Amino acid sequence: MRIDLISEHASPLAALGGVDAGGQNVHVAELATGLARRGHEVVVHTRRDSADLPTSVRAAAGVTVEHVPAGPPRAVPKDELLPYMAEFGDHLSSRWALERPDVVHAHFWMSGVAARRGLDGLDVPVLQTFHALGRVKRRHQGAADPSPLQRERIESTIARGSDLVVATCSDEVAELEQMGVDRDRTAVVPCGIDLTKFVPAGPVAPRGDRPRILSIGRIVARKGVDTVIAALAEVAEAELVVAGGPDRSDWDTDPEIVRLCEAAERAGVRDRVRFLGQVGHDEAPALYRSADVVVSAPWYEPFGTVPLEAMACGVAPVVTAVGGHLDTVVDGRTGLLVPPKDSRALAERLRELVNRPEWRRELGRAGVDHVRRRYGWDRLVGRTESVYRRVLAHSGFSMTASTGGRP
Ligand code: UDP
Repeated sequence: MRIDLISEHASPLAALGGVDAGGQNVHVAELATGLARRGHEVVVHTRRDSADLPTSVRAAAGVTVEHVPAGPPRAVPKDELLPYMAEFGDHLSSRWALERPDVVHAHFWMSGVAARRGLDGLDVPVLQTFHALGRVKRRHQGAADPSPLQRERIESTIARGSDLVVATCSDEVAELEQMGVDRDRTAVVPCGIDLTKFVPAGPVAPRGDRPRILSIGRIVARKGVDTVIAALAEVAEAELVVAGGPDRSDWDTDPEIVRLCEAAERAGVRDRVRFLGQVGHDEAPALYRSADVVVSAPWYEPFGTVPLEAMACGVAPVVTAVGGHLDTVVDGRTGLLVPPKDSRALAERLRELVNRPEWRRELGRAGVDHVRRRYGWDRLVGRTESVYRRVLAHSGFSMTASTGGRP
């Protein structure tokens, strides 16, 4: 098949080049290279966000990345990209008039906008992966959410107009149903992790004698690090290592770091909390291995890679019972689930794990097995390919592209 992936703000080249990149960059890179290994020809369309970028790059065997001229050729925050999606879509339209893809798969809602415009009048099925939903973000972040105001409305239109929405967890399917998307128009394919890097054996980051609780991820309010800090006050002796956040040079002024330090002072645990700042992804496995317990306490989580990485390294995660965590962590078998924003409940579970090393190890072993069986990229790319075939075999798809909406 000729498969075109649209990833308007997240280039797979960032992930393939090993530089700092978010989940969507990694997802699109793994999907593209995995599909190419299965014999498909993959073209990824991403916005040209630097004047130095060539029009087209052969990124790997079977994978071409095309830089689409849409908006200024410089970095633009993703929440400001919507006005350029018409230009992006028009570019796709002229591109596809010459070479018609068999399947188009859009990543993030704005790529869906561009794909729809590009496919107008073409008989090609389009699939959508949102990575995050505006309605969930708005529910939790309220006025602090910087997304364009039209996001929720456009997302609903995109979701209902796609031949299939590929969700990353079952919780997202429930949200999509509330947006008017039939369950049989959705499929769940989770995100994967690199099972060659995230393994229990290997280098271990230095540590002392205190039980170590590790929090790793972006330092933003919704990740709930403040709840973890409050819980630490009730987990005697343990240290909390917090990885992620801005460059150390920006720390004095970063409002979230300042807020967390103040919270640690107030809780009387400042001497037991260590902020590491951003840790390279290659260093993450050693850091996981150095921990007794990994904690991830977001208010909401579209997928959540951290618990999977922890389990793959043989470390039990304690996570909030939200979003993707509900699918990936088997409560009491591979990790523990706690309610969000509940430092008491979190402290209780952390204490149990810290005080019961045998149980911890048992959960750790079960976690390794669980992740290896289900979350390797090869397996997940294979599932995505089956989803494409299912859509292609579905007789109704042709009307979608030609009418620009559901039949
Ligand atoms: N991560 C990292 N270094 C850091 C902080 C985070 O490599 O200092 C990685 C982490 O290992 C994980 C990803 O960033 O792979 C975070 O993914 P997750 O899905 O948990 O959260 P997101 O940032 O996508 O909301």
